[in-house]
Amino acid sequence: MVRGQTIRYRIVAQNDDVTITTEVAASSMEKAVDLGGKSVSIEKGNYSHFVTLPIASESAYKNGHISFCPRCGSNIAEEMGDDGDDYMNESSFTCTECDAEVYVSIEVPEESPDEEE
Ligand SMILES: [Zn+2]
Repeated sequence: MVRGQTIRYRIVAQNDDVTITTEVAASSMEKAVDLGGKSVSIEKGNYSHFVTLPIASESAYKNGHISFCPRCGSNIAEEMGDDGDDYMNESSFTCTECDAEVYVSIEVPEESPDEEE
């Protein structure tokens, strides 16, 4: 991930009964935590604890770059060549974390305007 670019984060929040997940895009972890806190502050929801996980750069996300192993959830964006230009949408590989042989294909809609550029 390139410094200073917009990163997409996954926010996972829990209370005693429910786990909710949402996503935010922000330029830093600090801003993502702030946005995340607002997005999970549901009246009477009491989601006081949440985790903020970086997923990928916003452009890599929009362009369908493979960012995670579908089995173990490890971030493999860099192994897939996330340098901000070449996006890997389809690949057959062995995950270096969980050793699973996986095939991933991410379809990107034709109309996918990149608002950053
Ligand atoms: Zn894995």
